[in-house]
Amino acid sequence: MFEDIPVDVSPMYEGERIRSANMFVELAGPKSIGAELVQVKDNVEDGKIEVKGPELADMEEGEIYPLGILIEIQGEKLEKELEGVIERRTHELCNYIKGFMHLNQRDQIWCRVSKEAKESGFKLEHLAKALSTLFREEFPIIEAISIKILTDNAEVEVFLEKAKSLYEERDARARELSDEDVDVFYGCVMCQSFAPTHVCVVTPDRTALCGAINWFDCRAAAKMDPEGPIFEIEKGEILDEVKGEYENVNLVVADRSQGTFDRIYLHSVFEYPHTSCGCFEAVAFYVPELDGIGIVDRDFKGETPLGLPFSAMAGQCSGGKQVEGFTGLSLEYMRSPKFLQADGGYERVVWLPKEIKDALVDYIPADLIDKIPTEEDVNSIKEIRTFLEEKEHPILERLKVSTEEIETDEKPIETPELEEIEEMDTREVPTSPVAYASEMTLPTSTGMKIILKNAKIYAEKVIIKRK
Ligand code: SF4
Repeated sequence: MFEDIPVDVSPMYEGERIRSANMFVELAGPKSIGAELVQVKDNVEDGKIEVKGPELADMEEGEIYPLGILIEIQGEKLEKELEGVIERRTHELCNYIKGFMHLNQRDQIWCRVSKEAKESGFKLEHLAKALSTLFREEFPIIEAISIKILTDNAEVEVFLEKAKSLYEERDARARELSDEDVDVFYGCVMCQSFAPTHVCVVTPDRTALCGAINWFDCRAAAKMDPEGPIFEIEKGEILDEVKGEYENVNLVVADRSQGTFDRIYLHSVFEYPHTSCGCFEAVAFYVPELDGIGIVDRDFKGETPLGLPFSAMAGQCSGGKQVEGFTGLSLEYMRSPKFLQADGGYERVVWLPKEIKDALVDYIPADLIDKIPTEEDVNSIKEIRTFLEEKEHPILERLKVSTEEIETDEKPIETPELEEIEEMDTREVPTSPVAYASEMTLPTSTGMKIILKNAKIYAEKVIIKRK
């Protein structure tokens, strides 16, 4: 089937990572531009393949180039609503090609071609040919398909703008509905190939965390292939409307996560937040010192005020984990009136990258816009606190109440008299943990708890004392 393609094409290559040392070129990604787009059209010339711009043979080893992937499909049973879901499969299908790595989705794509693939004669034309065959196989309702690969900078720029406006059209449609308007949500397990316990629950208010699939897309996909990776979930009894907890959603998540999780809150980062795969557009993270929530997106290149970049934040919760205080989310979810509503929504947000803040200016309550700092205003927790005080951010009320509650409700903790009996200096073996804890709770001065899961504790000095 792939005789004229000089590298293997098979699901077994999904998950292959191409490190920079083994990379011939990088395409799109954070240092360039790129996008992928599927469009249902009439008069599609079946089998047409086109590469506009430099082919791999014209590229310099180690360089980075823009990339556009335009896939046009036609079929009697194909609906416009299926575009998003079919487009999302581009990630998986590209990764079937040995020596080609594809990450993320929409205008976030990030690809690499390995040196071995290039040496064996692989071209971008082969990428288009492989995708053409794979899409036809995966979606028998596709009757005609044509694929255009763009690598010319000016062409990709124009394509990117067009793709962005079409993504926005798809997203805007879903904004007209809310969770109360429907009886069913949808689940997606497409990312279980690399995050085996991850189950996305897609509702009108909570677009999938990859940002590429909304409730309408899921409805069309589940109708087309009820046995496929996107399936209907009856809401069942509402257990907590504000947190977004539903009896039947919990049952389905337990079943599809192989019993790993049996509760999720759709609209909170606390207790049972939505699990996170790895392709989320942004991460919400708890900032215990301020009892607030920060958000960092994939495009943000610097460090958050916690001193960690996006990648480190993402590492805390990706792979299908449910980690209290962290959750992956889409930027579209930040436009929903239910955005983290159980935690206080934007009233709880104490830091955002400038670019996201600008993009969400119509969705952040007007009285909060100037009160949420970005990297242009602050660089540390201390600076955030000063900024929040100067701007009278509502989180200050919350901090005050928490402190008052502690002062009035809690008895002071009595510290037992301790006698130092042994001191062990561990500095010579700093790479060995001195203790492990599957779960460990740390008190804070704000009345909130910090829970560390699977913690490894390192120390420069261990002091053992007898009571
Ligand atoms: Fe599906 Fe969620 Fe993965 Fe998007 S992030 S492809 S909705 S599992």
